[in-house]
Amino acid sequence: MLLRLCRWLRLLGYPTLSAHEIVDPREVEDEDEVLLEFCRERDALLITRDRALASRARSHSVLVRSDDVPGQLAEVLSRLGDEPYLDPDESRCPECNEPVERVRAENPGPFEVMWRCPECGKMYWVGGQWEDMERVIRETERRLRGSPE
Ligand SMILES: [Zn+2]
Repeated sequence: MLLRLCRWLRLLGYPTLSAHEIVDPREVEDEDEVLLEFCRERDALLITRDRALASRARSHSVLVRSDDVPGQLAEVLSRLGDEPYLDPDESRCPECNEPVERVRAENPGPFEVMWRCPECGKMYWVGGQWEDMERVIRETERRLRGSPE
């Protein structure tokens, strides 16, 4: 499962679905085939650790090898030809993949600008976790530059 990678791709603004949000393996005979079809229909990139599944998706896939988020992000962004760039106005809710909306706090505390997910109502702001997130971004940049591709 690449759930942390999925959340990060949403934060970076990429519409991303996790396999369990697409198909319930108990309800179908061939889970991989459902995922492949889903990606084919949407011209979506299939991101997986499963070598066999990645090879079935051919060039429309990223085979993830890294075990940590910066390494995994670097593998996906390298395939997309993108740089890691965190802009909360472009972010999607890490929980539900909906684009978040900028809102002004009714009682401005330390965080005057916040973002709200229209789907789950969760609020986001540039707080204490921001430095950790920037560290992940910087490390991803470093890995991207170090990647042989
Ligand atoms: Zn949400």
